Amino acid sequence: MNYEPVIGLEVHAQLLTRTKLFCSCSTQFGNEPNANTCPVCFGLPGVLPVLNRRVVEFAIRAGLATNCQITRKNIFARKNYFYPDLPKGYQISQYENPICTKGWIDIEVKGEKRRIGLTRIHMEEDAGKLLHEHPVSRSKAASWVDLNRAGVPLLEIVSEPDIRLPEEGVVYLKELRRILMYLDVCDGNMEEGSLRCDANISIRPVGTKKFGTKVEIKNMNSFRHIEKALYYEIKRQTEVLKGGGTTAQETRLWDPEREVSESMRSKEEAHDYRYFPDPDLLPVEIDERWIEKIQSNLPELPQKKRDRFIKQFQLSPAQAEVLIETGEIASFFEQMLQKYPDSKKLANWIINSPFPVTKLNPDHLTKVLTLVDAGTLSSNMAKEVLQKVYETGRPPEEVIEKEGLTQVSDTAALEAAINEAISENPKEVERFRGGEEKLFAFFLGQVMKKTKGKANPKIVADLLRKKIGR
Ligand SMILES: [Zn+2]
Repeated sequence: MNYEPVIGLEVHAQLLTRTKLFCSCSTQFGNEPNANTCPVCFGLPGVLPVLNRRVVEFAIRAGLATNCQITRKNIFARKNYFYPDLPKGYQISQYENPICTKGWIDIEVKGEKRRIGLTRIHMEEDAGKLLHEHPVSRSKAASWVDLNRAGVPLLEIVSEPDIRLPEEGVVYLKELRRILMYLDVCDGNMEEGSLRCDANISIRPVGTKKFGTKVEIKNMNSFRHIEKALYYEIKRQTEVLKGGGTTAQETRLWDPEREVSESMRSKEEAHDYRYFPDPDLLPVEIDERWIEKIQSNLPELPQKKRDRFIKQFQLSPAQAEVLIETGEIASFFEQMLQKYPDSKKLANWIINSPFPVTKLNPDHLTKVLTLVDAGTLSSNMAKEVLQKVYETGRPPEEVIEKEGLTQVSDTAALEAAINEAISENPKEVERFRGGEEKLFAFFLGQVMKKTKGKANPKIVADLLRKKIGR
């Protein structure tokens, strides 16, 4: 029997607000443990949460950009569980009526278009962090609690179980991440945990509708880990079922070092969160005008930009894909086109740049590309010039002059080099004239060597033909 996987993904995206969800503490990453805290973060008795309006705005932005319906009356709920990084004993989240529902993201995998549904997007606060090693003194054997992250605003974005292949999951995540970054609601930094992913996976016999027993894999923070974990889990479950066993509903953890998933807890140990509406927070009513205002301020989204770039600038899908990778590159490209309108050439230079091209002054880049077109710089020299411009910030004219990097097109200078090459290699001239056509390249090489690579190869070839005949 053949099985097919059914995959749903839950993404936690940290929002780019300056302050936390329910207090005015900073959200800055990397500060001293507990530097960004107050009585609200610690959950001390008698404190009251005050909602950060920006978080609601960001949630609406994300919802509108992913085709969701926006819930008008929002209720915050307490999700109760006990863990040392959560001193209140509950996390403030949304349960019924999440702020966004029924959206979707379109993706394309191997030329096939797929629509991945979004069940919901809701707002919630992050918990703190446990450190099992003292951040300063390693000798103090104990566990330490850092609540800098407690109360940091998150969006939880839950997909429908519409994903069938690990690659589809990765493409979906990349697209979602890019949308959030375009919207300026999340910095997308997976290493710092600004974007984390849980996956629900089950398998079922091909052709059946009923879902199999699902396994959840927690807290992955790189596309590579996610893809590997999904493949591993599909293989593991398939082997269990083919061997006549049954899979258990459980939560597993991915170990990226050993590349295996391991059971963390089974369904029997699963939490009963006892959700109930938070009595300290009033329902949040969202009116039509606010939604309209946010809608009218949405940027052009990556997919639209990609399609437009292909059509408007005659780019290949692969070129467009690279140029829309971030809003920054896309707008640099469009800005450059005002100065240098050859879209295909420009796209190639931007895509093949070995350093972040957006760091260049557009005028500097224009100057160099124009010199290449004029034959003053070879493309290799242009790369060298751009690298130096990038490193030093100096204008290209200065770099070219200082490094002596112009292509020699001056006929007299080139003729001198050609004459030298001819008189040094009389035998080769004879052989060439006798029909050994491949020696032409040898002479070209000699001239290039004599001019230290600066000769304009096209002009050299023309002159050489005239001198040695054939
Ligand atoms: Zn605080």
